[in-house]
Amino acid sequence: MSEYITPDIRALIDRLEQEQLLTKDEFVRLISGRSKAASEYLFEKAQRIRQRIYGQDVYIRGLIEFTNYCRNDCYYCGIRRSNEKAERYRLTQAQILNCCRLGYQLGFRTFVLQGGEDAVCSDVWMSDLIRQIKREFPDCALTLSVGERCRDTYQTWFDAGADRYLLRHETADDAHYRKLHPAGLSLENRKRCLYDLKDIGYQTGSGFMVGSPYQTADCLAQDLLFLHKLHPEMVGIGPFIPHHDTPFADQTAGTLELTLFLLGILRLMLPNALLPATTALGTISPRGRELGLLAGANVVMPNLSPSGVRKKYLLYDNKICTGDEAAECRLCLENRIRSVGYEIAVSRGDYRPGSP
Ligand code: SAM
Repeated sequence: MSEYITPDIRALIDRLEQEQLLTKDEFVRLISGRSKAASEYLFEKAQRIRQRIYGQDVYIRGLIEFTNYCRNDCYYCGIRRSNEKAERYRLTQAQILNCCRLGYQLGFRTFVLQGGEDAVCSDVWMSDLIRQIKREFPDCALTLSVGERCRDTYQTWFDAGADRYLLRHETADDAHYRKLHPAGLSLENRKRCLYDLKDIGYQTGSGFMVGSPYQTADCLAQDLLFLHKLHPEMVGIGPFIPHHDTPFADQTAGTLELTLFLLGILRLMLPNALLPATTALGTISPRGRELGLLAGANVVMPNLSPSGVRKKYLLYDNKICTGDEAAECRLCLENRIRSVGYEIAVSRGDYRPGSP
C-alpha cells in the first residue's frame, strides 16, 4: 500500500467530514485508494470529532456471554449449530445476576447479555431476567444481543426494561449474505429486525465483520450506505477471524489496518455513534483496541462472564481474555485506555444525539 495520500482521496475524506456521506463509487474509491498517510489524515479528523462529542470518555460495557447454544449455522461462527465439538453451556439467572453484581462493583453501568439463539431462553425467561436486572440495578442500561426474533418478542423485552439491542447486519450485499449463511437466514429478515428494533425505541446497534470471506470493497461500500440509512446509535465492526471447526477454517482473517480505516470512516459518517473497539480487534493485534480508540472508537466491552465458561464462547480462534477474571480485565483495560490518553467513564454511556 502506498505511503502517500492522493488529492482525490484527501478530497473524499474532506467531503465525508463535511457531508457525512459519499456515493457508493466514492466509498469504493476511498477504500481501495487508502494509504498510510490517508489513514493518518482520516484518524486525525475522527479523533477530533469523537472528542468534540464524547470528550476523553470511553464507555465500558460488561459483556455477559450467557449461552452458546444456537439454532443457527452461520458458516463463520464457532458456536454454530453444526459444530459438535463446541462444549455447550447456559448460565442460570442466578449466575447472570451475580455477574451483574460483580460488574456493578467494578464500575459497569451497562450490561450486555449476548448469546446464541437459544430456544430454552424463551421470551418469558428473558423478560423475567430483564425485570430482575432492572429492579436490582435501576441506574444501569441493559443491552440485549440474542439474534433475530419477531417484533412482538422485541416489544415484550423492551416493555420489560431492555434499553438497547445489538444485531450486526453482517453484510448489506444480498449475494454476499448468502455466501456467509445457509438458506433459511436472509438479509431481508435481518434488516426487518433492525428496523423493528429502532421503531420500538431501542438504542440499536448494527455492524459487520471486516475481511469476511468473499467481501469486496463494493460490499463494504454497501455496508456503509446501509448504516447511513439505518442510522443506528451503535456500530460494531471487527475483523473476521477464522475458527478451526467451521467451514471457513482455512480462510484469511481480516486485517487491523482495514478495520481501523473503516472505524475512521464510520466516525466521520455517523459522528455521534457509539463505536466499540472490539475484542476481535484486540485478538488480531496486541494493541488493536488502543489503536481502535485512536481511529475513532469510544466504547470497549470487557468480559464479565464467569471465567469457567469463557473458553466455551469461542466464536473464533485465539480469542483474548478467556483466562482472566473480570476484575483483571477491568484493570488491564483501564491501563490500556489511559495509555492512549482516554479515561473510563463510570456512567450508562448513552448515545448523545445532536448535530455534528
Ligand atoms: N446470536 C446473536 C446474533 O446473531 O447477533 C449474537 C451472538 S453472535 C455470535 C455475535 C457476533 O459475532 C456476530 O454478529 C458476528 O459478527 C460475530 N462473529 C461470529 N463469528 C465470528 C468470527 N469468526 N470472527 C469475527 N466475528 C465473528
